[in-house]
Amino acid sequence: MPDTKLVLVTGAGGFIGHHLVKYLVARGYRVRGVDIKYPEFEPTVAHEFELLDLRRFDNCLIAMRGVDEVYHLAANMGGIGFIETYKGEIVRDNTMININTIEAARIHGVKRFLFTSSACVYPGYRQNTTDVTPLKEEDAYPADAEDGYGWEKLYMERTCRHYREDFGLETRVVRFHNIYGPLGTYDGGREKSPAAICRKVALANDGDEIEVWGDGQQTRSYCYIDDCVEGLYRLMRSDYPHPLNLGTDRLVSINELVDIVARIAGKRIRKRYDLTKPQGVRGRNSDNTRLRQVLGWEPQTPLEEGLRITYQWIRSELIRTGRLESAQAGGVEVRVPPTPRGSQVVPG
Ligand code: NAD
Repeated sequence: MPDTKLVLVTGAGGFIGHHLVKYLVARGYRVRGVDIKYPEFEPTVAHEFELLDLRRFDNCLIAMRGVDEVYHLAANMGGIGFIETYKGEIVRDNTMININTIEAARIHGVKRFLFTSSACVYPGYRQNTTDVTPLKEEDAYPADAEDGYGWEKLYMERTCRHYREDFGLETRVVRFHNIYGPLGTYDGGREKSPAAICRKVALANDGDEIEVWGDGQQTRSYCYIDDCVEGLYRLMRSDYPHPLNLGTDRLVSINELVDIVARIAGKRIRKRYDLTKPQGVRGRNSDNTRLRQVLGWEPQTPLEEGLRITYQWIRSELIRTGRLESAQAGGVEVRVPPTPRGSQVVPG
């Protein structure tokens, strides 16, 4: 049994938070989850789960009682369509959530506090080409973060440093690069590109055309959820207090992503480009040099394998919710590989 008595996961009703709760419970931790909503797709396994709006300081104090370590994931966020549209709301909500949460942690004498930042803190001027140079942690400065969401993350990264230096709160900061996997939002406007593409391909017939945002040549790297929670745990256990990338360094274009998903689905898919839709920076990749140095580890799951599991889950969700007939789904048998440690996949 771990020494830690009680771990708090904020945002435990969300995609990464829900997976992290399962991972920590499986490792023998006692876990309290907090969110404004319950997990959408399956019940939580947290020992305690409280519905609390963390924009309010009194709720943060309630969430923090008796807690030894905090994984702070709660945020008002979504894919590129969401973060480019709701900047004021994002900055207002997340600034309140972050500052109130870390201050409540300080007051309650929390031992370790991990904040989930984002690759959106990196400056636009380093991400202007599709064959972009992978981003090292120090590249975040001179700052020119993603408008709204990126600046709010960068500000909280700095707040963690000041709380560590001035108040002795042990902080950890991770910068995620496009986390994907099952049990994540796949429609409704907050979904990210892998989930949106899986949904569109699942709903398409063989030979159909799907809409792609931008010209499809924009590039990203993607990290599977099981690697994400493993990396989060390793970082929390490490003694490294500075921001650390967590992602893969395999750069793919959105066009390639569509092609991989189409192959998994066994469908011929044509692309229709909508240049009016937001597409974010032109290219973004993670430099994992420091990740390897600090954690002695980096994400393991090949993109094809992670996307196969994700596609299968989204397809089964579309069938379950009546948006896709089983027969219409292409009749493709998608084999789901054994579930890696720390995750559960909803059977298709
Ligand atoms: P998510 O939206 O699924 O989870 C965030 C959770 O925070 C949601 O369940 C939401 O209800 C909760 N929340 C929002 N406002 C709240 C409030 N006022 N009080 C309490 N809870 C509130 O997102 P996710 O993908 O699981 O992301 C988790 C964290 O990782 C976030 O901080 C996000 O910014 C960061 N991140 C994620 C990615 C990614 O690719 N998924 C990339 C970079 C950074």
